Amino acid sequence: MQNYVGRFAPSPSGALHFGSLIAATASYLDARANKGLWLVRIDDLDTPRVVQHAIPTLLQQLEDYGFHWDKAVFYQSQHPQRYEDALQQLLSQQQAYPCDCSRKQLQQRTGSTVYDGFCRHKQLTADRDHAIRYKIDGRQPLSYPDLIQGEQSINPITSLGDFIIKRRDGFIGYHLACALDDLEQGITHVIRGYDLMGSSFAQQLITHAFAAKTLAYGHHPIAVNNQQVKLSKSAASPAIVKQDAIDNLFNVLKFLNQNPPAALQTANLDALWQWAIANWQRDRIPAKAEIGHLSL
Ligand code: GLU
Repeated sequence: MQNYVGRFAPSPSGALHFGSLIAATASYLDARANKGLWLVRIDDLDTPRVVQHAIPTLLQQLEDYGFHWDKAVFYQSQHPQRYEDALQQLLSQQQAYPCDCSRKQLQQRTGSTVYDGFCRHKQLTADRDHAIRYKIDGRQPLSYPDLIQGEQSINPITSLGDFIIKRRDGFIGYHLACALDDLEQGITHVIRGYDLMGSSFAQQLITHAFAAKTLAYGHHPIAVNNQQVKLSKSAASPAIVKQDAIDNLFNVLKFLNQNPPAALQTANLDALWQWAIANWQRDRIPAKAEIGHLSL
């Protein structure tokens, strides 16, 4: 049994950019420095958002940047039955329920996007026109020790609400798929961007519904541009290219406050990774939500 299994789970909605390189690098270094495995999963369930050629492109980018993954790439789209079985289990245990509220109705009713449990007692059938929501039990605060940001706590009713695990359009919700796949792949540590902090609470709830184990989570700051906008595929952040591998990785190490020596800028990829793994200090990563990457 492995003590450490980490992963990088990009959505194939475009090529990797500097922001996704931070998540790949932080998860990779944390796994390697802890003598762990590192896996790649492709989050390709939301097929309308899958961009043609994005998968071979991003895998090639990872290879060009010197990442090595330890098992065959895992594709979410290849496991539809597992998600359906899990949904049925949650429905039959009354840990989930169908819902026919639209986003607009919720907004008009509550002035918020946090679901108010309106359909909990409606006894709708779990058919095509209904979303399925996970039912949050109890009003206890949820807390966990984030590996980078320290102790985190939320009130799940007011911050999370009963979240969607199957969308009205039939697609499996991200939290359900992610938590099931992390279990399936034996992931022990999830290192990813601060923007997914809220997701971690939802995913921990799903994990607990199916397994006794817990995963460790750490959320690094995300990179923002001068206008404080997150680098992302939707913000058309430029794809990272092979020629810039050393420069980009050096800047990621700086971003993560690892203090890389200037000599690494003229080193080759192997030497850069060797230094980065040997000198990785997770504790040096700033406990912040975001950092302007152009001010490095
Ligand atoms: N697929 C998600 C994304 O690209 C991240 C999933 C994860 O790290 O859990 O934003």
